[in-house]
Amino acid sequence: MKIIWHPKCLEYGAPGHPESPERLKRAYEFLSAQGYEFVLAEPAAEEDLLRAHSERHLQDVKKLRFYDPDSPRYPNIFEYAALSAGAAIQAMRVNGFSLMRPPGHHAARERVAGFCYFNNIAIAVRASGKKTLIVDIDGHHGDGTQAIFLGDPQVIYLSLHSFPNYPGTGLRSEQNCYNYPLPFDCGDKVYLQTLDDALKAIDLNGVEQIAISAGFDTYYKDPLASLGLTTEGYFRIGERLKKLGLPMFGVLEGGYCVEDLGRNIHALLKGLGS
Ligand SMILES: [Zn+2]
Repeated sequence: MKIIWHPKCLEYGAPGHPESPERLKRAYEFLSAQGYEFVLAEPAAEEDLLRAHSERHLQDVKKLRFYDPDSPRYPNIFEYAALSAGAAIQAMRVNGFSLMRPPGHHAARERVAGFCYFNNIAIAVRASGKKTLIVDIDGHHGDGTQAIFLGDPQVIYLSLHSFPNYPGTGLRSEQNCYNYPLPFDCGDKVYLQTLDDALKAIDLNGVEQIAISAGFDTYYKDPLASLGLTTEGYFRIGERLKKLGLPMFGVLEGGYCVEDLGRNIHALLKGLGS
């Protein structure tokens, strides 16, 4: 699997913020050593961003007219967020993996939230025009992604996440959004059984691709959303998704165990068959 990346994503950050440039720097170094092919990310055009966000939201991000305690008003965050969204589109086009920040799944049509400014996976799915199953394996519920796609017949959204936890949504399934809240540190076995049950419950008829919101904060060493998963667990998740036999792409979301993020991404990609 090709990895979409740009070193510009390391240029911003705030001291002590868990969504740090260091996590991507270390992951990039680890994955480089594994021999992956890297493709340089290009920014999304405004028309791409507007498939998931309002014009007003674009202007608010550009002019730093927003307030969210988790999502700082970094100078030039519009450029960084547009580059991360562009990388997600490229990942969709080449069935690759976007290794970029900021993440996206908490960003809604008109809302910055939870370290997210633009909803990268939503932008990529909309750009594809294909009926898509989004599998959100981040430890938090992708409330922004759900809000964008709720009731959209082109998308099935599936999320496994820790509960109770931020953002407090995703307690039950609604329409085309399938939610599986799981208890803190439940472990690989419970997680994988739940994923198997969830994939069985979903009607994949007509689905043309799988988009993975790939967060790794379910990892047992993660400070924010551990579901007790091991590196092997990510490989097993990848294997299960590969078995569905559809084209796939992945977009990095969370994952705050800096020393093992690269290893866990590698395990997922290996499971997916790359
Ligand atoms: Zn998360």
